[in-house]
Amino acid sequence: MPEGDTVRRLADKISRRFAGQRCARCVTRDPRLVGVDFAGSTLVDADAVGKHLLIRFDDGRTLHAHLRMTGSFTVGPVAREPDWRRRIELWLQDGRLTGIDVPILGVVRTRDEDTLVGHLGPDLCGTSEPDIEAITARVQRAADEPLAGALLDQRNVAGFGNLYAVELPFIVGVSPNQPVGAVDGLRELMGLGAALIRTNARRGPQNTTGRRLTADDHWVYPKRGRPCPLCATRLDGWAEGESPWRRVSTWCPSCQPVETRANRPVDLGRAGRLLALHPARREPSFPRSGRTGTA
Ligand SMILES: [Zn+2]
Repeated sequence: MPEGDTVRRLADKISRRFAGQRCARCVTRDPRLVGVDFAGSTLVDADAVGKHLLIRFDDGRTLHAHLRMTGSFTVGPVAREPDWRRRIELWLQDGRLTGIDVPILGVVRTRDEDTLVGHLGPDLCGTSEPDIEAITARVQRAADEPLAGALLDQRNVAGFGNLYAVELPFIVGVSPNQPVGAVDGLRELMGLGAALIRTNARRGPQNTTGRRLTADDHWVYPKRGRPCPLCATRLDGWAEGESPWRRVSTWCPSCQPVETRANRPVDLGRAGRLLALHPARREPSFPRSGRTGTA
């Protein structure tokens, strides 16, 4: 699923392959791109801000894409998808860049990129280390919001998608339905989340267990009805239309009960055990102490 880490890796891949190359031919098959032609322009670089992909050209234009659930780009080889699914195709010196089923595509002046991404919170997968204090403060503003909804709100912090909104609460033993204001250790949780997504952005593919088997790369997403990998209780969840944040969700009713009488603490001991094999442990933002703060 294209979350911040996936889009960052895609942007880096496009830059590595095509930066500095002239576009010889451009075909668009999207009503929003009528009249757009990048032929004759040089691709400067590609960047990711949260889940937004920005491909910049030397004529002052930026191709903007958001992949949502369905979109993808083929970088280099000729795409196998039929023509009508190829929304945009660029012929560059070292191969072809093709946007497949991309639900949001547009062109803006590079100096106006802020109109697309200026509303976003701090970017988790940017080049500089994210400010965990600032991110925590932003997420905390939505005290009554369920934890998963607050993680998904890109105005709080840019990059987390539904995979992290399911996996992070499980890793620290807090329900995705727990109100943000009733979570103790939110700062540690954000540090852990940043460490995970930044590691996955650098190494890929997305993995929250540290095990490299594809069937075993996530703890509970999307395994509703299956036994909890820690306590074997049957996992509970929401279907897409049921959840307040309108995405599928999964949690363990035993490991992640909603705490109504007191705050629910983030369990860093559990996180340490679950991520014992994950290279995210080496990230600077990975919480070190065995106890949680109240931030
Ligand atoms: Zn459990």
